[in-house]
Amino acid sequence: MKVENSRRSIDVFLRTTVFLTIAISVLVMTAWLTGWSRGQSIFLHGATMKFNTALMFFFTAIALHLSLRKTPATKLLVKILTYSMLLVPVITLFEYIVLPSFSIDQIFIEDTRSKDFPGRMSQGTAISFIIIGLSLLGLEQKKEGLKVVFQYFLMMVGVMSLIVIITFLFGINSDFDFLFIDTVAFHTAVLFFILSISFSLKNPNLGFVGLFFVNNSGTKVIRIVLPIILFVPILISYFITRAFNSGEISASMALGSLIMLFIIFSGVFFIITAVLLNRSARQKDDLGNDLYAVNKELIDTKRALDETSIVAITNPKGIMTYINDKFCEISKYSREELIGKQHNIINSGYHSKQFFADLWKTIAKGNIWVGEIKNKAKDGSYYWVHTSIVPFKNESGKIYQYLSLRQDITAKKLAEELLNSQYVKKLKQKNIELEQFAFIASHDLQEPLRSITGLINLLNHDYGDKFDGNGQKYLEFITQGASRMSSLIKDLLSYSRLGKENLLATIDCNEILEQVKVDLSVNLIESGSTLICDNLPVIKGFEISLRQLFQNLITNAIKFRNEGVKPQITIGFEEITDYWKFSVSDNGIGIAEENKTKIFNIFQRLHSKDQYEGSGIGLANCKKIVELHGGEIWVESEYGNGSTFYFTLLKDPIIIPE
Ligand code: ADP
Repeated sequence: MKVENSRRSIDVFLRTTVFLTIAISVLVMTAWLTGWSRGQSIFLHGATMKFNTALMFFFTAIALHLSLRKTPATKLLVKILTYSMLLVPVITLFEYIVLPSFSIDQIFIEDTRSKDFPGRMSQGTAISFIIIGLSLLGLEQKKEGLKVVFQYFLMMVGVMSLIVIITFLFGINSDFDFLFIDTVAFHTAVLFFILSISFSLKNPNLGFVGLFFVNNSGTKVIRIVLPIILFVPILISYFITRAFNSGEISASMALGSLIMLFIIFSGVFFIITAVLLNRSARQKDDLGNDLYAVNKELIDTKRALDETSIVAITNPKGIMTYINDKFCEISKYSREELIGKQHNIINSGYHSKQFFADLWKTIAKGNIWVGEIKNKAKDGSYYWVHTSIVPFKNESGKIYQYLSLRQDITAKKLAEELLNSQYVKKLKQKNIELEQFAFIASHDLQEPLRSITGLINLLNHDYGDKFDGNGQKYLEFITQGASRMSSLIKDLLSYSRLGKENLLATIDCNEILEQVKVDLSVNLIESGSTLICDNLPVIKGFEISLRQLFQNLITNAIKFRNEGVKPQITIGFEEITDYWKFSVSDNGIGIAEENKTKIFNIFQRLHSKDQYEGSGIGLANCKKIVELHGGEIWVESEYGNGSTFYFTLLKDPIIIPE
C-alpha cells in the first residue's frame, strides 16, 4: 500500500468517524430531551447512552475534528475540549468509588428510566472516555514510547467495545454482568469502537495499527486475515443463532453447522492466504533476482569506470566523499588525506577564480560541466585532467552529489605546450629552411648531374676507343661516381619529402608487416630468413612512413647478417603509458658501442659499398619517421652477436602544423 494512498484513506476514515459521532451524539441528546426511548438505548432491553455520555462524544468528535488541522489555535482548543471532556468521566468514576454525588449526573436532563444511578454514565464508559481523552493528549506528545502505550490502551477500548457489540448482536448482553459489559449501551460501544480505531490511526506506524501499514508479508496477512476472522464468524454465528432462536434448527444442529461452516470457511480461507503468500514470495524472489542483475551491472560499470578514469564523488558542498585508486595515484595523496576535503587541495592556481565560479554555476544548475583542469599533486608536480562533472539529483530534483570523471591528459598538454614554445617554433623554422635547402639542392643538382652523365655517355660513345686502358678505367669510375651521386641525390630528395604525409590513420601493424613481407619476399627467401612477429597492435600514425620504417629495419637485419648464418628476425612490442614500444632484433653482425648513435645520421655507413650495398640514408629516414610520431629510436647490440633496434611511437601522435 502506497503511503500516500493510506494517508488519504485514513483521512476519509477519520472524517467519517467525526460525522458519525456527531450525528449519533446529537440524536441521543435529542432522544433524552424529547423522551424518545429507542434513541436512548437502541435495544430496548439494553442499557441507555446517558445524556452526559452523548455530550462527551460530541466533545470528542469536535476535538478529533480540530486535531486534524494542526494550527496553534486548534491545538489549544483541542486541549481545552479534552480537559473538559476528561472532567466528567473522572468525577463519575470518583462518584462510583467513594459514592458521593456531585449532582453532575442529571445536570441537563432528568433520567427517570434508569433504576441504579440515574443519568450516570457506566464505569466502562467512564474508563473508555478517560483512555480516549488521555490518548488525545498523549498522541500529540513527542515521546514515541508514550505514544505506543496509548496505542495499546486504545486497542483495549476497541476490543472491549467489540465484545459489547457482539453480546448485543447475540442478545446475550444482559448475561454479561462482569467488566461493566452489561452497563454499556450498544451505540456507545459502536462509537467507542470506531473512535478507538480513529485515534490509533493518528499514529499509523506505531503499536498495533503499525502492523497494518508496514509493507511486510506479516502485514499483508494481517490485512487480509483480521477483517475476515472478525466478521465472518460473527456473521455465521449470528444467522445460526437466529435460526436456533426461531426454532428452525435444534441446538446440536446449530452447534454442528457452526463448527462445520467454520472449518470449511477457515480451510478455504487459509488455502487462499497460502496461495497469495506463495505468489508474493515468488514475486519477491523474482525481484531479488532482478535486483541482483541490476546490482551486478552497477558493480561492473563502477569497475570499468575505476579502471579507466580518475573518479571522485563530492557532496553538494564540494566535499569529497569517494575517490578511487587512480585519483590517489595521480594526486599522490592518500585516501585519508582527501576524503572530507574540498577539491581545492589539488588546486594548482593556474585557473582564475572566475573559471571555478563558472564551473560551479553550471553544475549547481544540474548541468554537466566538461573541461580541462590543471591540478597540483602532493609532491608539487602538475598534471592535467580532462574532466566531466555530472550532478546526481534525487526524486525531488535536488542535487545530492556530483560525480567527476577525469582522464590524465598531461602528456598531450605538455606536447601542446612544447609545440607552442619559442624554442620549438625556432626549431621548426630551422627545419623548414633545412628541408627547403635539401629539396632545392637535390632538385637543382639533378640538372647538372644529368648533363654530366649525358656528356660522359657522348665521350664514351665518340672517343671511348681513343682512350688507353687507364683512360677507359677513369671513364668507368666517372660513370659510376655520377650514378652514385644521382642515387644519393634521389635519397636526399626522398628524405626531405618525409613528413609531408598529413593524414593520421588507424593502422593494424599486422597488416603493414604482411605487406612488407610481400615486398621483401625475394630477399627473405634468398637469404633463408625467418621473420617472427608478435600479435602487433592497432595504432594511430602515418601509414606510408610506418611501412617504410619496418621495411628499412627488416632490410638491414637481412643485409647485415653473419656470413653463412640464416637471419632470425623477431618483431615485438609492449605498451607503456602514452607510447607503443616496438623492437626489431636480429642475429646479424652487430654494431660496435661507439657507432650506436652515429648510424642514425644521414649518409653514415660503417661499411664500404663493396661489403654491403647501401647509401646510409635508411636509419636517418627511420629516425625522422619515429620523431614525426613523437617517439625515439635507439639500438642495443653486442658487436658480432646481433642487434635490437627499439623505437617508440606516441599513442596519440599530433600533426605538427607547417
Ligand atoms: P645502409 O643500410 O644504406 O648502409 P642505414 O642508414 O640503413 O644505411 O644503416 C647505417 C649503418 O648502420 C649501416 O651501414 C650498418 O653499418 C649499420 N647497420 C644498420 N642496421 C644494422 C643491423 N641490423 N646490424 C648491423 N649493422 C647495422
